[in-house]
This record gives sequence, C-alpha cells and structure tokens, in this order.
Amino acid sequence: MLTPITGRVTIVTGASRGIGRGIARAFAAQGARVLIVARDGTAAEAVAQELTAKGGTASAFACDVADADGVQAMAAAAEERYGGIDILCANAGIFPAARLGEMTTAQWDEVLGTNLKGTFLSVSACLPAMRRRGRGRVIITSSITGPITGYPGWTHYAASKAGQLGFMRTAAIELAPSNITVNAILPGNILTEGLEAMGDDYRRQMAASIPLRRLGSIADVANTALFLGSDEASYITGQGIVVDGGQVLPESLAALEGI
Ligand code: NAP
Repeated sequence: MLTPITGRVTIVTGASRGIGRGIARAFAAQGARVLIVARDGTAAEAVAQELTAKGGTASAFACDVADADGVQAMAAAAEERYGGIDILCANAGIFPAARLGEMTTAQWDEVLGTNLKGTFLSVSACLPAMRRRGRGRVIITSSITGPITGYPGWTHYAASKAGQLGFMRTAAIELAPSNITVNAILPGNILTEGLEAMGDDYRRQMAASIPLRRLGSIADVANTALFLGSDEASYITGQGIVVDGGQVLPESLAALEGI
C-alpha cells in the first residue's frame, strides 16, 4: 500500500487520450489534483469533466508542449489553480512513421520537437514551482523503441525516446539538490485506441512476441507512474522502468518458441 498522494498537484501532458489519460485517471482516483494537457482543448476538457464527475479534481489546459510560451502558461495555470506543482508526467508524444530516404527535415523536427524538446520545455517550465515546493517528481514516458529496440519507420521517434533518457540522467543529477527526482517509464506495446485500430491479427502477432503473451494495458503504465510519483519512490532517480511483459528479453524467435 502506497502512501496516498491526496492533493498532490500533477500535470499530465498528452492526457486527452491513450496512456496520458490513463495516468490522469489513476492519479485523480488517488486524490491528486490533475491538470489535463493536450493541444486539443475540447478533448482535454472532456477528460477533465469525466474525472470531476467521478469526484476527482481536474481541469484542462490546451497547449503545444513544443511551444516554450505555451508550457510556461501551463505551469502558471497549475500554480494559479492549485497553488503549486508536485508532479510532472511528461507524456505527450507523437509517432508518425517515415523511412529514411523519404523522411523530410520537417517530419524529423516535428517528432524531436514534440517528444524531446517538449520534455525539456515542460520540465524547465515546472522547475521554479517545484523548487518553491522544496520537492518534485518528473515522470517521463519514453519507450522501449530507441533506448533498447528499433522499428522500421521510426528513426526520429527512436532518437527522441533515447534522447529523453539522456536528458533524464543529467537532469536527475542537476535537480537532486532541489529534492526533485527524474525517472522514465519505457512502455512496450500498450493497448491504446491507436493499437486497437490496427486490428486483431496485428495484436495477436505482437502478443506472440511477448513472453507474458499479452499486450500491456494502459493501467500497467499508469500504475508504474503512480509508484514513481509516490513517497515510497523518493530514493529512485535517473532510472528507466521497462513495462513490456518481457518483450525485449528474447534473443531470438527460438527463445520464445521454447516456452
Ligand atoms: P496517443 O494516444 O496518440 O496520445 C497522445 C497524447 O499526446 C494526446 O493527448 C495528444 O493530444 C497529446 N499530444 C500530442 N502532441 C502534443 C503536443 N505537441 N503538445 C501537447 N500534447 C500533445 O499516444 P499514446 O499511445 O498514449 O502515447 C503516449 C506516450 O507514450 C507517447 O510519449 C508515446 O511515445 C509513449 N509510448 C506509447 C506506446 C504505446 O504502445 N501506445 C509505447 C511506448 C511509448 P493532442 O493531439 O490534442 O495534442
């Protein structure tokens, strides 16, 4: 049983759907006060209303995490509405596919701008408020793709997700004196709306390549974020937790066929 995070002010970027919405739901259910961030303010508002209707405390804020002024306004909104910032879940991310030779500079910049620069900007914007609090938690949603594995079409995405871990390690050292921890979650294949839309065959094939023989649930990732945001995780910083059902473990197909 983790110490309750009741009242902790939590910003979740990319919380209008998918993993971010799951993290926001989990934190709100535990009593955190949650700022739901996405570019589409209407979608963010719908999530905030859902959480409020369930008795939680949540509100929406529309911004692009690649925009420095936007994320500054995001941090200011959390402080104005809730009096500070305790936890930042830097989760917003995009993953459009483009192969080398066809990928444009604009496509590269868009993915790195959202996933990597967006992480830097979000953390930077929340720092003053966390320092005023005398503590803080940063939880970055990275991926197994990039830090550990590769997938065709995703050189830009993989570079951004590996880059988040490089950022995390140095940020963890720099921010430790301010009692701010910085950790990352590396999800494998998580059953989000996007993955569901890829059809049964795709899902079956992916599940067959995972030792635990199932895709991850959004709750699997959200529960890891809850742990990293808890008092019990206060001595963990600069670490990535892989949440993938063992997907990265088999060294060959034979390793899986033998079980
Ligand atoms: P998703 O369902 O596509 O949701 C992405 C969220 O991010 C949405 O709320 C989206 O809202 C928001 N967003 C995108 N660009 C943004 C921007 N520039 N500024 C602010 N918000 C932005 O994606 P997901 O599958 O949940 O993925 C969430 C995170 O998990 C990503 O970082 C992704 O790389 C990582 N991840 C996912 C998986 C997986 O299996 N799904 C696996 C490994 C890692 P708007 O479009 O309205 O802005």
